[in-house]
Amino acid sequence: MELKYRAPEGMNDVLPESSHLWQYVEARWRDHCHRYGYGEIRTPIMESAALFERSVGETSDIVSKEMYVLERGEERFALKPEGTAPVVRAYLEHGLHAGGGVQKLYYITPFFRGERPQKGRYRQAHQFGAEIIGAAHPLADAELLAMVMAFFAGLGVPDSALQLRLNTIGCPECRPAYRDGIRQFGQANFARLCSTCQSRLERNPLRILDCKVCVAITADAPPIDPYLCDGCRTHFETLQGLLKTLGVGYVRDPRLVRGLDYYTRTTFEVVAEQGLGSQNALCGGGRYDGLVEQLGGAPTPALGVGIGVERTLLVLHALNAPLPEPPRLDAFVVAFGDAARPIALQIAQQLRMAGIACDLDLEGRSPKAQMRLANRTGARYAILLGETELQTATATVKDLASHEQTAVPQAELAAWIRQRLP
Ligand SMILES: [Zn+2]
Ligand SMILES: [Zn+2]
Repeated sequence: MELKYRAPEGMNDVLPESSHLWQYVEARWRDHCHRYGYGEIRTPIMESAALFERSVGETSDIVSKEMYVLERGEERFALKPEGTAPVVRAYLEHGLHAGGGVQKLYYITPFFRGERPQKGRYRQAHQFGAEIIGAAHPLADAELLAMVMAFFAGLGVPDSALQLRLNTIGCPECRPAYRDGIRQFGQANFARLCSTCQSRLERNPLRILDCKVCVAITADAPPIDPYLCDGCRTHFETLQGLLKTLGVGYVRDPRLVRGLDYYTRTTFEVVAEQGLGSQNALCGGGRYDGLVEQLGGAPTPALGVGIGVERTLLVLHALNAPLPEPPRLDAFVVAFGDAARPIALQIAQQLRMAGIACDLDLEGRSPKAQMRLANRTGARYAILLGETELQTATATVKDLASHEQTAVPQAELAAWIRQRLP
């Protein structure tokens, strides 16, 4: 068949054969976040485009090349290309700061970027997010990192399969001097840098540190440590001490920089040793102490994480982590003869109302075809309704594994099945 319509490139359908895996990791994320005192926030799928132009930055690749912009009359919207700015927008709009104290917000969201699709990178991808708004102390950074690693451990991913990479990028007080230091280093090695790095050296020199092409050159770049102000140094040292206390292992990665001014101090990512290929970052995050103010609020420290849902599933498959089976039916009702069909429908309805997962043929098929269907669905029991059963108001319940058959009064069917379900 010639297909007339296809899903947009890089956007995937999730079919019943795998949607139960999505439901599983989503449920784990919700449960995990509740355990750490988070409340769920749901924001619209699109926002004013200006929100991302202001927060992510008009010159960033995300905004300048990858964002899906929708125009309607005078208004310009964008499908969300990331999860944090909408949460901060909602935090300010609903006055969540009014009560004082810390807000812990989590979410599960799709996000949209017009990138070239490849394994682990899609134009519609999904993210587990968590944001802590209002906490400056490194206790918050430590708790967030421990929470992320515990989430993966809870999914059956061993520590040895992951690496937590940690860095600090200073603050608006101390980073300018470091930026100058990197710019000077870049100028001294200018001829060896790739053309992208050469062109961004003036505007955004820190980005040369995360360029994959220039890795060999930037290996000798100066580290940030001697540049850090007292506040940033103490923050980073305290955080590392707390991670030690919590038993959270990490490696220092001086290449983890963020190109934007509102990012401060802690940056991190978790990479998977296998399962993801070149897109091996499972999650990333850090502090963004400048963002709330940038979006019109009072200066408010904040930090957060985004975990790739598709990538998490790829890693779970690659590691053969325990995954649930698709949900199966408890029962399948089989009608022998047309007179039994309405009763079969009625019994199925009663069982469903009693919490039993149950199905039946909706096409008027023969008993033999119905039995085949019952077996194919993987149901535990077939409930057989023939002439004899109709006359005696009973049903023959057949265990489809052991083939054992039992006559059960129709009125007691639900109770009988429920007793035998795990
Ligand atoms: Zn600083
Ligand atoms: Zn480069």
